[in-house]
Amino acid sequence: MQLKPDEITKIIKDQIKNYSSKIELLDVGTVISVGDGIVSIYGLDDCMSCELLEFEDGTKALVLNLEEDVIGAVVLGPCDNIKEGSSVKRTGKIVSVPVGEELIGRVVNALGQPIDGMSPIDASEFRPTECDAPGIVARSHVDTPLETGIKAIDSMIPIGKGQRELIIGDRQTGKTTIAIDTIMNQKGKNVICVYVAIGQKNSTVAQVVEMLRTNGAMDYTVVVSATASDSSALQYIAPYTGCTIGEYFMDTGKDVLCVYDDLSKHAVAYRAISLLLRKPPGREAYPGDVFYLHSRLLERAARMSKECGGGSLSALPIIETQAGDISAYIPTNVISITDGQIFLESELFFAGVRPAVNPGVSVSRVGGHAQIKAMKKLSGTLKLLYSQFIELQAFSQFGSELDESTRKKIDQGERIVEILKQNNNSPVRMECQVIIIYAIINHLLGDIAVSDLLRFEEGLFGYVIQSHNDLLVSILTDGLTEEIEEQIKTAIHEYKSMFAA
Ligand code: ATP
Ligand code: MG
Repeated sequence: MQLKPDEITKIIKDQIKNYSSKIELLDVGTVISVGDGIVSIYGLDDCMSCELLEFEDGTKALVLNLEEDVIGAVVLGPCDNIKEGSSVKRTGKIVSVPVGEELIGRVVNALGQPIDGMSPIDASEFRPTECDAPGIVARSHVDTPLETGIKAIDSMIPIGKGQRELIIGDRQTGKTTIAIDTIMNQKGKNVICVYVAIGQKNSTVAQVVEMLRTNGAMDYTVVVSATASDSSALQYIAPYTGCTIGEYFMDTGKDVLCVYDDLSKHAVAYRAISLLLRKPPGREAYPGDVFYLHSRLLERAARMSKECGGGSLSALPIIETQAGDISAYIPTNVISITDGQIFLESELFFAGVRPAVNPGVSVSRVGGHAQIKAMKKLSGTLKLLYSQFIELQAFSQFGSELDESTRKKIDQGERIVEILKQNNNSPVRMECQVIIIYAIINHLLGDIAVSDLLRFEEGLFGYVIQSHNDLLVSILTDGLTEEIEEQIKTAIHEYKSMFAA
């Protein structure tokens, strides 16, 4: 074989020319202790808060505590293979989750991985779960209604797009039902919904998903689930994940509704992590920054200005109280963060007043600006009559003789309570709500027995939708003009004769 020196020199020259040194700098630390899903690590001095770490076996951990020499992190997943002395490396990334259209209709865990047994999610974009809330300049005021389809709420405690309205009440008072009904009422209204389940039973979450699916609501909904069997760390991240998924749609100019069910369990999960990380416990053993835990989440709800796309993210956080005690630590915190609360009472629930909304202590601080004109006109009177009734009712229990006007007020109050009752999963259109509330305020239904009212109402709605569609349209566009009021009266009069027959 003949050697060709110029060929060899060419190859060597090429290699020298194309030589580039590749040095990968890895920050590696050592595990000092591990237990209860918490690891202390030595040697990662430049680590960021909320950074993702990776162990040798690929398990990830989330940095939560930055101390002088050691850092504390929670393991996201099983920590069987992590031992004292194991090495950990930084990833340089904050926890990120997939976002995009691909997630719609899916059930994912707190890290955005699908858990519904369907195909993997092939998202093109990842976003960090923690990010800053939109600033003042980027925001606009709340001016469009977010219709829940629930009479008691749309009339007295209206919610606007971009608002944060707390749903608060004891266990089993219909909190989840209000949120799910609101999601189902967004069908065909071009709103993307995100339901975040935190610390609930797997079976409850499965039920909710089934309910959404059978009603066709999964076509525009994403479910993020961190159930009671998931680690505290995953429960802690879940609402931020849901918010991040929602924010993607808000940034594309869409309207989004996020439900966090529920934040009491979220606070408990965070308390567990904090105590294990040896953060100093404060009131009710919650760490000092538990207010910030929820404020930074709910501040991300916003109505964006036109220049910033005009999208919105409304939040419906849920809080479970113990024996109606709204002055406990977490309830007071979240009440002060949100723009109002819907307070549900067990006594009302057991008395058959469902949804068990107590209008006396429920408020909506910004939603009034977003109500449609017709409803706004009725809303004030309705609230006043309702609260007068509650006062008189307590008074009338003494059984004393009542004068004519008091008796009339009580009679009307009973009708108001009856008409605001509503089954779950039976939304009412805003126009129909206006008609029935107008009727009850103006004593148009005095001759119908209280027990017949809901049956009458159902029939009336059917009749109006069938024969007076133009009236429904003009209620939305023109508000309650004198002419429209006359038309409502006629329609009710017409249906009354049919009802009697
Ligand atoms: P938990 O504390 O367990 O989370 P919750 O407060 O979320 O309970 P839900 O699960 O929404 O309460 O409702 C409890 C039960 O009450 C359910 O069986 C639900 O079907 C029923 N319910 C709720 N609202 C209504 C309603 N308006 N009409 C009839 N039944 C209702
Ligand atoms: Mg619930």
